[in-house]
Amino acid sequence: MDDFISTLPCVDSWRHKHLLGLESLSAEDITLLLDVADRFRTICKSAKNKLNLLSGKTVCTLFFENSTRTRSSFTLAAQRLGASVLAFAAGTSSMSKGETVVDTARNIEAMGVDSFVVRHNMPGAPKLISENASGCVLNAGDGAHAHPTQALLDILTIRQRLGTLEGKTVALVGDIAHSRVARSNIWGLKKLGAKVILCGPSTLVSSEWAKIGVEYSYSLDEILPNVDVLNLLRIQFERQQSRPFPSVREYELLYTMNARRLAKAKKDVLIIAPGPINRGVEVTAEVADGPQSAIIDQVTNGLAVRMAALWLTDLRRDGE
Ligand code: ASP
Repeated sequence: MDDFISTLPCVDSWRHKHLLGLESLSAEDITLLLDVADRFRTICKSAKNKLNLLSGKTVCTLFFENSTRTRSSFTLAAQRLGASVLAFAAGTSSMSKGETVVDTARNIEAMGVDSFVVRHNMPGAPKLISENASGCVLNAGDGAHAHPTQALLDILTIRQRLGTLEGKTVALVGDIAHSRVARSNIWGLKKLGAKVILCGPSTLVSSEWAKIGVEYSYSLDEILPNVDVLNLLRIQFERQQSRPFPSVREYELLYTMNARRLAKAKKDVLIIAPGPINRGVEVTAEVADGPQSAIIDQVTNGLAVRMAALWLTDLRRDGE
């Protein structure tokens, strides 16, 4: 294992105690995190290959919203690095007695927690905790605001398959308006030199990102022949105030990625999706399970990215 540790990239340039979003990271920071994740990927699949980079540390997964992949992979990532994990269950906690998020975090921290992995439906909740607790804070999704580790694993998957992000065209398709995955992808992809196209119904795609050079389109069929990657986003019904289109059937006719549409795309187009996928809505089963799809591979990369994020932030725990 010592041999493995000596193969990790030099991390002297990493300065961040928290990982709250990708907007504040430089292209060099993102590249370093991806490089570290790439190394972890080679060993992280097997529990037998446990590292001791975080031994003696405790990571608390503080989830106030449901999760399958993010919570499990942060838990496994911490364990693979040798840390103990405390899983906080919001539903059975004293939050129901009126305790605030900050008081909850500070009380848990008093038991000896080093890092918090926070998911909350309120944008800014992880930042608030980072300002009021002393441990590292990693944002595992805050409302429609940001989901940095999801974007990093998406970008890592693209980099592994296409070699680079520079000059590649990535379309984010679906519910851009309510998607924290879209926001974090936009920042990360733009910083690494990709061209980003947002695509979906006009009720879910706005031109607000044009100021940082992001393009937008309401027609998937029109952009298909020109894209290298399609990131298919779930319609976030739980975050919408009103229905953005008459029925799922209308959405399907214009935006579902199916075999007919795939035939119009570049022959080596890469299909990714953050999950959970709703088969038949954003993507059909044949495309999701087909040869162009890297959806399951993304999940493996998620573990590696979260190991990298936990380790790098911990290295700077004495910083701001
Ligand atoms: N799992 C992702 C998230 O938590 C994507 C989704 O829910 O659609 O944002």
